[in-house]
Amino acid sequence: MCIFCEIIKGNIPCYKVYEDDVCLAFLDISQATIGHTLIVPKNHYQNVFELDENTASHLGKVAIKIAANLKEKLNLEALNILNNNGEKAGQTVNHFHIHLIPRYNNDDLTIIFNSNELKKEDFNNLLDKIKM
Ligand code: 5GP
Ligand code: ZN
Repeated sequence: MCIFCEIIKGNIPCYKVYEDDVCLAFLDISQATIGHTLIVPKNHYQNVFELDENTASHLGKVAIKIAANLKEKLNLEALNILNNNGEKAGQTVNHFHIHLIPRYNNDDLTIIFNSNELKKEDFNNLLDKIKM
């Protein structure tokens, strides 16, 4: 059973922020900061590797609208838009979702990126592998 599919079907309640034919946005049960919102496609895709381009494009447009709405309605300073794909990346619900996390001057949320110092040669070797 996928908990987000159950929410989409209406079998589990949620605090609905936005809905259309393709997606649903609702408040995360665990509010990392006040206004923490999840956007999920109504069809079940496990992660970004399964998501199709049309759905991704739609979710992106909705994310921008919801971001603007949160900015207008909440007194936020900044906003993180995050998406985790796979357990190692922190994904705990295996139904693709985008997090919108308002940031406030006094919030205590920390999101830290490590810094791997690569030499020029390493950057070029990497680019040889992944350049599209
Ligand atoms: P992930 O770690 O997979 O990127 O994020 C999953 C998110 O779903 C978590 O932030 C978690 O709090 C939220 N979540 C899990 N179960 C429920 C639920 O039943 N209702 C709501 N609204 N959020 C949930
Ligand atoms: Zn699902």
